Amino acid sequence: MKYIHTKTKKSKYFSLLIIPHSNNIKQFKIATWVPKLLIFTIIISLSTTIFLFFSYRELKNKYLAKLDELDYVNSINIKQKAEIETLREKTTEIQEKLDTISKFQEKIKNMIGIKDNKKEKRVVNPSRSGNQFFKEKAVLEKLDNSIISQIDELSKLLDNSKEELIKLTADVEKKMKYLDAKPNLMPAKGKITSGYGYRRNPFGKGREFHKGLDITNKPGTKIRAAGSGIVTFAGYYGGYGKVIIISHGYGYQSIYGHNRKLLVKVGQHVKKGEVIAEMGNTGRSTGPHLHFEIRYYGKAVNPKNVIDNYK
Ligand SMILES: [Zn+2]
Repeated sequence: MKYIHTKTKKSKYFSLLIIPHSNNIKQFKIATWVPKLLIFTIIISLSTTIFLFFSYRELKNKYLAKLDELDYVNSINIKQKAEIETLREKTTEIQEKLDTISKFQEKIKNMIGIKDNKKEKRVVNPSRSGNQFFKEKAVLEKLDNSIISQIDELSKLLDNSKEELIKLTADVEKKMKYLDAKPNLMPAKGKITSGYGYRRNPFGKGREFHKGLDITNKPGTKIRAAGSGIVTFAGYYGGYGKVIIISHGYGYQSIYGHNRKLLVKVGQHVKKGEVIAEMGNTGRSTGPHLHFEIRYYGKAVNPKNVIDNYK
């Protein structure tokens, strides 16, 4: 083959001659732009290939990096879901503990005789039936959505519990003060020789109403305040002999008669169980004993119904 460069008037051409050893020579006329185009095309193709190759490599690297990232995110996701599940279980545990506290509060209220004027119905979360709920319906995707509302509810429950405890503490304090004041302690050791109610008159004929309790023991036996309060009378008073009267508040008064010696003064604050007098035989008495009366809003009541350790 041989290329012969020929020139024409209007454009440039190549002549491609094919010279076989035997027969005729074949001549092809080719325009000069054809090889130029060919070379141009080859360059473009090569550059495109190189560009594509490098782009592919870059993309592949990016893809691999993304895959790694995805694996990492997935592992975090699994960990977080497990954490959410644990959180949910802990939430239930806290709710159960709150329930226990609530039950104890109720128990305390019952013990001290406080009644709920309004029974608050708490907002019950469906999950409050216990851990089993999670085991049966552990759809993690749902956990994510409800965990925040559950914690919110728990926070509210804790606030309520705190308020209830504050109120309960105040109520208990009030009740304790009342119980401390209430004259419910046996005021002296000894034998009950006469109870509250009608009895044969020890001084004469017929029956009389005995407004208190007679406890008989040796003269000088300690007489104790049946409840905390303030001494409102300490002195001699007719048939009661040497008598002490204590006002306890809440409508209660207690009276201790026939004493040999008085150990407290009017206006003095006495504590439940504090020694206030010595047993004697003063006033209208047939022998050393304590005549003990409890008055509720001025009316003598049966000490048996007020005293806790009555025997
Ligand atoms: Zn009496």
